[in-house]
Amino acid sequence: MSSHNATTTTAGGAGGGASHGAAGGAPGGAHGPSLEDMLTAKVTIEINAFIYCVIGLIVLLRVPHLVGFLKSNSGRPFLQVFRSGEPSSASEPKNLNQGPKLRKGASFDSTDKGSGPYGAGETVVLDSIHLDAYSTTKCPPHVPSAPGFLDPLRRLLQTRVLPGYSAMQIAVLMNYTYVILYGAFRWSNPFTDGARAGMIAVSQMPLIFALAQKSSILGSLLGYGYETLNYIHRYAGRLSVTAANVHAIFYIYKWSNAGTILQELQHPKFAWGLAFLIAMDILFFFSLEFWRRKAYNIFFWSHTIGIMVLFPAGCMHMPAARPYMFACAILYGLDRIVRAVKSSIATATITHLPRMDMAYVEVPNIRSGWRAGQHVRLRVFSSAMGAFGWAETHPFTIASASGANDGLVLFCKKAGDWTGKLVELAKELDSRGVEGQGTVKVWIEGPFGGPSRMVFSSFSAAVLVVGGSGITFGLSMMEELLVKDRRHESRLKYIELVWVVPDPASVTPLVPLFTSLIQQSHYCILRISIHYTKALTEKVPVYERVEAEPCTSITIDHPNLTLSPGRPRFKNIMNNAIGNAMGLGTAKEALGVSGVVVGVCGPISLGEQVVRSVGEIESATKSRVGGIEIHEETFGW
Ligand SMILES: Cc1cc2nc3c(=O)[nH]c(=O)nc-3n(C[C@H](O)[C@H](O)[C@H](O)COP(=O)(O)OP(=O)(O)OC[C@H]3O[C@@H](n4cnc5c(N)ncnc54)[C@H](O)[C@@H]3O)c2cc1C
Repeated sequence: MSSHNATTTTAGGAGGGASHGAAGGAPGGAHGPSLEDMLTAKVTIEINAFIYCVIGLIVLLRVPHLVGFLKSNSGRPFLQVFRSGEPSSASEPKNLNQGPKLRKGASFDSTDKGSGPYGAGETVVLDSIHLDAYSTTKCPPHVPSAPGFLDPLRRLLQTRVLPGYSAMQIAVLMNYTYVILYGAFRWSNPFTDGARAGMIAVSQMPLIFALAQKSSILGSLLGYGYETLNYIHRYAGRLSVTAANVHAIFYIYKWSNAGTILQELQHPKFAWGLAFLIAMDILFFFSLEFWRRKAYNIFFWSHTIGIMVLFPAGCMHMPAARPYMFACAILYGLDRIVRAVKSSIATATITHLPRMDMAYVEVPNIRSGWRAGQHVRLRVFSSAMGAFGWAETHPFTIASASGANDGLVLFCKKAGDWTGKLVELAKELDSRGVEGQGTVKVWIEGPFGGPSRMVFSSFSAAVLVVGGSGITFGLSMMEELLVKDRRHESRLKYIELVWVVPDPASVTPLVPLFTSLIQQSHYCILRISIHYTKALTEKVPVYERVEAEPCTSITIDHPNLTLSPGRPRFKNIMNNAIGNAMGLGTAKEALGVSGVVVGVCGPISLGEQVVRSVGEIESATKSRVGGIEIHEETFGW
């Protein structure tokens, strides 16, 4: 309390001079740093020490998970890079990808129908499962993502409390807010001490930069992809912008009252301060959801230019800010270097998938080095992409498994201007029809993100729920899991892919691939259930002689491949997965039960439905099956 009073008195008495000292470090010179400066330095160190200790604690708690990941032979936990050349041993045994390739323009005129999707108690078809011996020596250990004693808390915190936000995420943000508020008010009064808010703003910048890295060092340590942590980046950024504005308002008010604002702004350090503030406000304004959704390029370029202004402006405005700004510059530079290392120029074949209105991009020379669920940033060097189209990079989830014979595969759905041009380019290349002419040079950067340290093959059952173009996640995941299954490196007894599409006809090109995958599921059951949301009034051709009929579920090409109208019943799907995870009489019976993993990729609402259904499962059931973990991916932020 006495310290607080002392601070207030100093600030008031000095007419803000001490605050200038904190902000610029200059006027304090003759008398050394003011009490305010020292308290501000102490508090900013305290809050950062607290934040990084908490991060360190989480890293420590997750060490067993990292060890489990390393033992699972699932790739590198840090710095993954693409590899070219011959398919790696990961593609053994051969032919996973040599099933029928995507077929375009299939003919449709039949009436072949099958049974509908299972109800609550119905079991799935087991015809492809092999009951011969399954060597368990190479199976990955199952390590839950959080220590067992935290399980009840983890379950509770998974609950959705706001659209797109779990209780855990809200708890993280609220606690972060409290720490920042402590930093802002401890031994300080924002009405008399303008420098404090400025220091709080810059002291959080390294964390904000660390959370923004695509090849996130922090994410690698914590075991989360950068997209998973992006919500903290956005929130911390906004708090920092607020603090910078509080700092600025203090001086604008004071100098305006004194009638000296124009003279003050002629001091270089205050002019730099103004530049810093404008850059922060631009960063904030153009990162609002409206810009990210409606004009991504404006968001991107305002962020890039704003960051470039921040470095010199921060250093020139406040000497005390320099260590923080240097840390940001190092993090930014490192990210750029790692991204450059992770980039390659390759030749891609681009074809058009008319029914899905997608471009199918195949890069045969990039063979391995990624994990299912990771994405790349794609740049296409073609005049067909427009005057500046070559300068844009867009993220796409890799749709093939690492080591697959087709190399790296992407499905790019027409969503706006750039993807529209890519689809047009695919049509044009298709129309040339001459071998080798349908190729184009591309810049591929990645792999990024993905399920990080979650090892899907260490669970007893996996449910992959994908919406629309989220199928890319489902395809790469299924391929990877089937390769592991055949190499005796998987505990999975059951995999179900649930794909929600608007139109039943859009699935046609993928049916041969789906059938091929189901036929290759040797020691586990693979079931693929497609659900369409469009209300049919007449029959719609789907595949060869199969047609979708109003209000009727059908099977296509294989009993484990079903097409049903309406939204999926996740509760039934989960119950079925749990039943199969605990199921006896399979080749993997000796492996026991090691939980169910759910991977979701699609709109936020889809993730919310899945999380809700998992939340409704009784705790006793969850414990019996060894826990249920969810990994979510969304196409955007
Ligand atoms: C991690 C991730 C993985 C994705 N995987 C796939 C995939 O496998 N298949 C697929 O078809 N689509 C995928 N997308 C979506 C795809 O990136 C966008 O549809 C595409 O960038 C749209 O560009 P556009 O100019 O045609 O459309 P626009 O009209 O400019 O944008 C449409 C939407 O895409 C977002 N977007 C635009 N440009 C970018 C960008 N450079 N980076 C991030 N988001 C952008 C916008 O915010 C907007 O919401 C993925 C997105 C993300 C974030």
